[in-house]
Amino acid sequence: MVSEITQTFRSLSENVGQFSLRDKTCLIPEMNRIGGYLLAGTFRSFGIDAKVMGTYKGLDLGKEFTSGKECFPCQVTTGDILLFMEKERERLGDQFNAENYIYFMPEAEGPCRFGMYNKYQRIVLDSFPDLKRLKIGALTSKDSYSLSGMIEKEKARDFRKVAYFSVVIADILDRLLWRIRPYERVPGSTDRFIEQAMKRMETAFESHGEKKDFDRILGELEEIINEGKSLMDPAIPPKPLIGIVGEIYLRTHVRSNQDVIRILERYGAEVVNASIAEWVNYTTYDRLREAKIQLRLNLKQFRYKGVWSSLKKILSYSADLYYQQMRQDQVYSKVKPLIDLADDHRMGHLEKILIDEDLFSFDVGTEACLSISGIMEYLRGGYSGVVNVYPFTCMPSTITSAIVKPSMNRMKVPYLDTPYDGSFQPGREAAIRTFMYQAQQHIKRNGRKDLKIQ
Ligand code: SF4
Repeated sequence: MVSEITQTFRSLSENVGQFSLRDKTCLIPEMNRIGGYLLAGTFRSFGIDAKVMGTYKGLDLGKEFTSGKECFPCQVTTGDILLFMEKERERLGDQFNAENYIYFMPEAEGPCRFGMYNKYQRIVLDSFPDLKRLKIGALTSKDSYSLSGMIEKEKARDFRKVAYFSVVIADILDRLLWRIRPYERVPGSTDRFIEQAMKRMETAFESHGEKKDFDRILGELEEIINEGKSLMDPAIPPKPLIGIVGEIYLRTHVRSNQDVIRILERYGAEVVNASIAEWVNYTTYDRLREAKIQLRLNLKQFRYKGVWSSLKKILSYSADLYYQQMRQDQVYSKVKPLIDLADDHRMGHLEKILIDEDLFSFDVGTEACLSISGIMEYLRGGYSGVVNVYPFTCMPSTITSAIVKPSMNRMKVPYLDTPYDGSFQPGREAAIRTFMYQAQQHIKRNGRKDLKIQ
């Protein structure tokens, strides 16, 4: 028994972490579909084979190998990797070797359970003799998702820059989809168009990523936006604007959230979902905050070595945050004159909202910081309703719900919680319909900032 436990711990330290991706196939779980494909294109541009795994079809396997106490995204991703491996085994027969792959599963620091997914999945993979050698490549929010050890040192910084750029471009394509689809002339045309646009951008990242030719990539994006705009019917009047917040996986993984954005659109909404770049910026901002707190503590206690190390961290995270925001601004300033898409928020601004409203604190951490301040920002922007999308029992989203509900009632803005666990809730569509009725009443009473089709 003791040796089994020792073995488990050894595997957790030896087979979960940052391993070289060179000559391996990097397996990316699908979360926001576009982001996964653009990231895969970025990997390939740096000479690393990368694949986005199919998703959700392995849910039965995911449920079989979890107890039901895990968060829903853990079940979905466990099923995705097990099914992918099963299919590779069938495809390759005797040639199959799990060592040829690295399963890419980032993590975040507590206090919630995201940091445990890859550990749990390690234990599951180790229960299959031939999957013991499938390593889990774990990027962590502890160092703001640095790639040290996974890519050659001289390329790691460039890769991180291009990968971040791909995150911002994927956000823009998603926002383009949600901006165009409610106003499309021909039903289904936006979905088809965005699918092709995703492939074009994936190719652009594969061809120009390593050279950091951001202008060429932006040029392709501009063309896509100009083509996409022509799908919109300017005669359709503006619809109630609905903001989505919540847990990052559920609100972006269309299969897990049972396509909640499409259902909202079916009942008359135009939707803006919180972005992925926001989460990346948040992890950098949070590390910077921590380093500043550490610096103050070291100064108070006259720990000069500590002061020096905190200063180095502050400089490094400040530079990262500056770079990220600069790139994001560059993209949005290219895009906004072409089409009116929702902006992203600066982290300092979101923290200030929480302080001003006295609702929550960045000291507590988790996605609740972003969701609560994001909701306040939606309200200031004149949105007609807010939906919180999250896995059943998700801690940060439950906190969000408890904190914002009284404010939403007071301000008379429609609000809906939509927890998901893979089962179909018979009343869900009726709840969304009622919510959208309230949102229609809200827009009648208050109007909305009109978005012009240019
Ligand atoms: S954010 Fe929610 S769903 Fe994700 S690990 Fe934490 S508690 Fe689970």
